[in-house]
Amino acid sequence: MKRSDLFLKTRKEVPSDEEAKNAQLLIRAGYIHKEMAGVYSYLPLGFKVLENIKQIVREEMDAIGGEEMLLSTLQHPHIWQSTDRWDDAKVDVWFKSALGEGSEVGFGWSHEEPMSRLMTQFVSSYKDLPVYAYQFQTKLRRELRSKSGLLRGREFIMKDLYSFSRNREEHDKFYALVEQAYHKVYDRMGIGSITYKTFASGGPFAKYSHEFQTISDIGEDTVYLDETKKLAVNQEVSADEVLQELGLERNGLVEKKAVEVGNIFTFGARYSEPLGLFYTDENGVQQPVFAGSYGIGISRLMGLLAEIKSDEHGLVWPAGLAPCKVYLASLGDEEEVRRQANDAYGYLTDKGVSVIYDDRDERPGEKFADADLLGIPYRLVISQKSLESGGFELKKRTSTEVTIVQKDGLSALLTKAGQA
Ligand code: ATP
Ligand code: MG
Repeated sequence: MKRSDLFLKTRKEVPSDEEAKNAQLLIRAGYIHKEMAGVYSYLPLGFKVLENIKQIVREEMDAIGGEEMLLSTLQHPHIWQSTDRWDDAKVDVWFKSALGEGSEVGFGWSHEEPMSRLMTQFVSSYKDLPVYAYQFQTKLRRELRSKSGLLRGREFIMKDLYSFSRNREEHDKFYALVEQAYHKVYDRMGIGSITYKTFASGGPFAKYSHEFQTISDIGEDTVYLDETKKLAVNQEVSADEVLQELGLERNGLVEKKAVEVGNIFTFGARYSEPLGLFYTDENGVQQPVFAGSYGIGISRLMGLLAEIKSDEHGLVWPAGLAPCKVYLASLGDEEEVRRQANDAYGYLTDKGVSVIYDDRDERPGEKFADADLLGIPYRLVISQKSLESGGFELKKRTSTEVTIVQKDGLSALLTKAGQA
């Protein structure tokens, strides 16, 4: 990508209508555009980060047998009435619209009902189970407070997976697999060490559900941590009760603020029964399907990563999530510099290393500031000075050390960048 071809523009000034650091940084760096409170559009670089986050989640969901699909956003009131989740008094986040002639339509804020209802077409015998289906979807929610940037959107992207099993035993096995997959997802995003499996309130089919909480001061949740056991308890449930059931001591717990980046939930027959999702077992007896749902906040993760992986100069993306690996900047307008920069750009692109090539006529300070603000893992500079020193100046976003790389060294080095 040549900078001169992109419509990207960065900003020095902090947007005055944003309180949250994540939104301020992402807007300044040209990753997102604010439409209104809690509603953002993803610009080309932001879209790449979002897709990189999704890809990690997709790989881990596929690895445990998930089948990706995409459900509709518009929702028929009828199926939600049958589970008593249409009434605004029961679910206060609904966005609804009139369809004319007194009928209404809802905008999907979650998809347990439509997914369970859809499965009645495909599940009738024990031979049809289990089923694990998931999607990446834009959820719409009438959230009252929306001041945390991407952390709490009125429109946001979620990965939601639904499991349909024959019985609790089969369900529990999958539930444990999802838990492991979630840990892999957070590890791959570089937040594994600060993300805790957390006990939260359950429902009629499970005493607890589990959240995945990432420790951060911007979090809205309060959790009690056991750092040695790598477990936490949400303030909303009685910590003592949980501790008693794990046989843990209370003195290991520390109170922290945290961001819920995902959750897993057992809901058993709660939606299967009212929606008619039954199967015939090996003995010919009809049974309700035993279900669970598993969410990950995709756009919330992008906001959280911007929030915690950043410094005074801007964003610092983990290599696997950055929109590209290298920010290549040519300084000065000497012909030799231009030629070498063009060469390097072609060479890296050929090797499959993704590059933003800052070929603009801008001052060096401007280019350096942009490389930092955008948070690209490697900065490669070509100038008369660097050529006199024998090559290109290379700096990692996370370090202040500049090294000179010879043209021949570029290949080995960028293979490394390609893998990072
Ligand atoms: P919260 O307690 O933060 O409101 P929730 O309990 O409503 O979350 P779910 O409905 O289970 O969450 O959604 C699954 C995941 O989607 C959450 O774990 C979170 O990461 C993400 N999420 C939920 N609401 C939002 C939102 N308004 N904006 C961005 N992400 C969200
Ligand atoms: Mg919520």
